Amino acid sequence: EPSLRVRDLAYAYPDGTQALFGVNLTIERGERVALLGPNGAGKTTLVMHLNGILTPGHGEVVVAGLPVRKDTLREVRRRVGLVFQDPDDQLFMPTVREDVAFGPANMGVRGEELERRVRHALERVGMLDAIDRPPHHLSFGQRRRVAVATVLAMEPEILVLDEPSSNLDPASRRELAEILRGLDVTVLMVTHDLPYALELCERSLILSGGVIVADGPTREILADA
Ligand code: ADP
Ligand code: ADP
Repeated sequence: EPSLRVRDLAYAYPDGTQALFGVNLTIERGERVALLGPNGAGKTTLVMHLNGILTPGHGEVVVAGLPVRKDTLREVRRRVGLVFQDPDDQLFMPTVREDVAFGPANMGVRGEELERRVRHALERVGMLDAIDRPPHHLSFGQRRRVAVATVLAMEPEILVLDEPSSNLDPASRRELAEILRGLDVTVLMVTHDLPYALELCERSLILSGGVIVADGPTREILADA
């Protein structure tokens, strides 16, 4: 089973704006894929379908074999880990430990298994030392890494990141790239940062006007763009 399959996905907002017109894409397990495209292309709308924030007007989204539907949303949201552009939308607890524990605890993970998940997720983003600190004492780059950990602690099938390199200084940007490269998880990242896409993603998609207009090796996609 691929990590993600989107078939004939079309969507219009309630005001009638048609944002997606028959999007098809498949992402195999372990791939890292960049989703590129101009403002208004439909990137956010597509991402909002991946974990069921929006439900398709037409077509379907399947995550590791599980169709996104009202009755599967709980499991879908565990499988699709969304990392928002602003980490402060994701961190709201008094300590890093509590923030990273929030998702798995909500799924019923308890005790030693919960602590193991939290520590492992923080290790993977190089933030274990900050486990007892309040998130708001960390730098922006560190908060973004903790936000990634909150999602990894759910052991997702696919990690979806919105502009992961935005607002990072060059050192934090490099650190995050290293971390993302080291993860053994399927990644879809929405970005305007073409060097970052080239560095991290073997494959890129270009969405424009609600359709996928290019899909292939990032090097070739950027050469043609
Ligand atoms: P992107 O993330 O690529 O910038 P969006 O998915 O945000 O694109 O937007 C796709 C299209 O849908 C645009 O025409 C946008 O104006 C429109 N759109 C986005 N959100 C809404 C909404 N809540 N209501 C109506 N139209 C919307
Ligand atoms: P992004 O920078 O992630 O592409 P946008 O700037 O396209 O996001 O949209 C930011 C927010 O504004 C989103 O929640 C989107 O749904 C909403 N939005 C975008 N276009 C419209 C629109 N035409 N009507 C109503 N809401 C919109």
